[in-house]
Amino acid sequence: MKKRLISLFVALTMLLCLIPAAFAATFNAGTYTASANGMNGAVTVEVTFSDSAITDVKVTEQAETPAIASGALEQIPADIVAHQTLAVDTVTGATITSKAILAAVEDCVKQAGADPDTLRTPIEKNTADVGDRTAHVEVLVIGGGGTGLAAAMSAMDNGAKDVMVVEKLSRFGGSTSVSGAVVAAENTYYTQSIGLEPNSEVWLEEWKASSDSDIGVLGKDPGYPTYERVSNYFTQVGETINWLEDEGVAHWVTYPFFPNGRYQVPDYVIDSETGAADPEGGYMLIDHMVDWLKNHDADLRLSTTGTKLLTNDAGDVIGATVQDASGSYDVYASRGVVLATGGFAASEPMMREYLPQFADWIDLTTAGAGDTGDGMQMALDVGGVFYNDPYVITLGSTSRNGSIAGFCMSVNLWGRMVVNSKAQRFFNEGYMPYQATVALSRTEDGIAWALGDSKFAGAALLDAAVDGTEVVKADTIEELAALMGVDADTLVKSVETYNTACATGNDAEFGKGASNLTAIDAAPYYAVRIYVCTGGTIAGVKTNLDFQVLREDGSVINGLYAGGETSNREMYAYAYSSGSGVGYALASGRQIGMNLMK
Ligand SMILES: Cc1cc2nc3c(=O)[nH]c(=O)nc-3n(C[C@H](O)[C@H](O)[C@H](O)COP(=O)(O)OP(=O)(O)OC[C@H]3O[C@@H](n4cnc5c(N)ncnc54)[C@H](O)[C@@H]3O)c2cc1C
Repeated sequence: MKKRLISLFVALTMLLCLIPAAFAATFNAGTYTASANGMNGAVTVEVTFSDSAITDVKVTEQAETPAIASGALEQIPADIVAHQTLAVDTVTGATITSKAILAAVEDCVKQAGADPDTLRTPIEKNTADVGDRTAHVEVLVIGGGGTGLAAAMSAMDNGAKDVMVVEKLSRFGGSTSVSGAVVAAENTYYTQSIGLEPNSEVWLEEWKASSDSDIGVLGKDPGYPTYERVSNYFTQVGETINWLEDEGVAHWVTYPFFPNGRYQVPDYVIDSETGAADPEGGYMLIDHMVDWLKNHDADLRLSTTGTKLLTNDAGDVIGATVQDASGSYDVYASRGVVLATGGFAASEPMMREYLPQFADWIDLTTAGAGDTGDGMQMALDVGGVFYNDPYVITLGSTSRNGSIAGFCMSVNLWGRMVVNSKAQRFFNEGYMPYQATVALSRTEDGIAWALGDSKFAGAALLDAAVDGTEVVKADTIEELAALMGVDADTLVKSVETYNTACATGNDAEFGKGASNLTAIDAAPYYAVRIYVCTGGTIAGVKTNLDFQVLREDGSVINGLYAGGETSNREMYAYAYSSGSGVGYALASGRQIGMNLMK
């Protein structure tokens, strides 16, 4: 009897297993809405159910960063409807947004009277035999950010017919797409139009002064920049900007933040009504470059990762193995392979190994999520070498409170008073962002708070962001200290000393300039816990001035090129100079394309 019952149970179980997930749940048909917290606040969805299926998922409200979240905003709703499951993969680089959409849809499932646990069937992977996909091209570009797309464009512009770009994420762009697309360049159509005479000697002097100042702040000399590379770059970046203009990719105009100088952005980055530059101008630049490549029949492959370089007996690079959801295949490149995979600011293991002083803040990096040092590792595997003394591209400070993360970064700390866990100031807040970053990274326990009061321009934003842990607010400095967990007497004394400096215009402690000294004296008071915000790395594999990857003995690895953040160490001492990250990506990419086709 017992045996028969078990058989019946097994049979029923097998039968149930055969029922598709779509029929495992029944719903009270209708449309429901719910929200969950994403990266920059609430993500709201509207989900429509029939009696037996989820028929539509729409994201109706969200403030996510398009360059980071757009893949998740499109893909997650589509996957839920297509596969009738909540067990869909999150989108790499947009995990928080993906999880917010899933949480909000789960809420709607409950509202529709169903148990979300009946909707957890994993999506079956496509294991169909895809056949031999070995490919032969002239140029293989690994990494579809600014460097990679410029290299592909340039190779095609110089005669290449078969160019493949593989990008491991579900959209092109990397760090370039979240950048402001600000490029500092001389001798461009734009700088000529405003009568700015090119003067690379003056520019080089400025670069040297800035590098010397970094070395002073850090107290050690990495032996970089290499000024021959920097000088070459000054010429190449101007030519690159004009080339992109000639190719119809961008018409460059002044950058409103630093008007009438070397700083320029594509005109579509400027809001025609407000005249302000879009902080995500890189997103638009990338789209225009991708359009150019599509119009020229480039082979563009998203969600495809370069994993390993292929070499011949002489050690020359002849192609690479790449991988997508269906498996791996080899791509042979007769002219060469371009490593354009960005830096490693998004790789926790590499940050812990090479830049441990910044590793605790890796979750806050604004660098592209795919920038995990893959190209550098691939080059090392075939004999490439690392530049010594890597550093970070710093963008000042940020917050763990998503609603003011951008705010913290954009205003930096110039007008603020910053204290450590001892409630004492510890640096000149008027420093440039990278110097502030050094100071923040040197606190004993990584704790720093930026103080403000009701007079601050961003006070309303801070007020709305108060969360009791990362952003606190109080009517007295003593109460503020209690919320911050610091000693009240010391904080009161620190604020008094700072306010005296503001009144006299003389910051005897740290020498902050009078224009950045604003007293903290109008309640309510605010304190924001701040963290180092990295935007990339200054590092990479050694290349010669033609961007060919070098071995330890200085010999060239034939067929292998690297540019952008994959090989940018020689450009700087420790501080990235505004407008040179995107500039170097585009200019090095263009040079590589030209060199490949010589
Ligand atoms: C928020 C922010 C703002 C910035 N603003 C500016 C600015 O206004 N001006 C400026 O000059 N600089 C700016 N920078 C710096 C600048 O954006 C970068 O230094 C530059 O764009 C890097 O370009 P890249 O091509 O080297 O890397 P990326 O643009 O990051 O491209 C690398 C690409 O390679 C892909 N990839 C990685 N590994 C693989 C693999 N194994 N297979 C396939 N693909 C792979 C990545 O997913 C990524 O798409 C900013 C940076 C940030 C983060």
